[in-house]
Amino acid sequence: MLIGTMNHPARDVLEEIEWMAEMGLEFLDLTLEPPAAASWRVNPHDIRASLEKHGMAVVGHTAFYLPMGSAFEEIRRGVICELRRCLEAFSIAGARWMNLHPDRYAPMHDRHFFIEQNLRTFRELLPDARRLGLGLMIENLPGDYNTASQLGEILDPLPEIGLHLDIGHANLQVPYNTTEEILTAYGTRLRHVHLHDNKGGHADLHLPLGAGSLDVPKHLRALKHCGYDGTITLEVFTPDRHYLAYSRDVLRAMWDDLE
Ligand SMILES: [Zn+2]
Repeated sequence: MLIGTMNHPARDVLEEIEWMAEMGLEFLDLTLEPPAAASWRVNPHDIRASLEKHGMAVVGHTAFYLPMGSAFEEIRRGVICELRRCLEAFSIAGARWMNLHPDRYAPMHDRHFFIEQNLRTFRELLPDARRLGLGLMIENLPGDYNTASQLGEILDPLPEIGLHLDIGHANLQVPYNTTEEILTAYGTRLRHVHLHDNKGGHADLHLPLGAGSLDVPKHLRALKHCGYDGTITLEVFTPDRHYLAYSRDVLRAMWDDLE
C-alpha cells in the first residue's frame, strides 16, 4: 500500500512535490485544476522527471466540477476536450489511472438524463484512454453517487470503468458509512482510495484521521478483505502539515496492524 496526497490547485505542482517527497509520501495524487495546476499550465514532462527523481508514483485526478452531464451539448463537448488534455498530461506524467467525478447538475431533467449524459461522456473518452494506456475510474460522491446501487448505474453499463472509493465521502448524507456496501458490490474493480475524516451529515470537512467519526480500522479491514494493496490518498486539507504527517503515521500503523 502506498500513501500519498494531493497537490493544491493554487500552488506550483513542482514545489508541492518537493515538500511531499521530504515528508516521505510515496505518490502524488495529481489534480489538474486551475489556477496553478491547470492542464494547460503544467509541464507533465517536468512533473514526471521530478517524481522519478524522488521515486514517487502518480495517480490522475481531475476537477470535481466539470459539467460532463450538462444539458448543453457544446459545454459537454468542451468537458471532453479538457479531459482529453488531462489524459495526455497524465500519460506523460506516468499515471495509469484517471479519476472522474460523475456530474448531476442538469436542472429540469430527471436522473436518467444526467446518468445517460455521464455515460456518453465516458464512452467517448474510453478510446483515448486506451490509446494512452490509462484507465478511467469514478469517485463516489455524497448525494447522488454514494451507494452501491447509485454507482452501479454507471459501473454496470461500463465494465471497463474502475472504482475510486472515497471513504470520507461514503460517510456523508447517508444513514451509515457505505464503504463496506460499495466494496461488497464493486471491490474487485477498486483502483484507488481517498481517505479523510468528517462528522457525518453534509459537511465534507477533510479532517485529519481521528478528528471525526470515521471508523478507520473497520474500513481499512474492508479494503484488505477485497485484496486491495494500492494507493491511498490522504485528503487532509489543513494549512498545518503536521496533521497530514500525523494522519500518515496513523494510517501506516493501522494498516500494518491488520496484516
Ligand atoms: Zn476524494
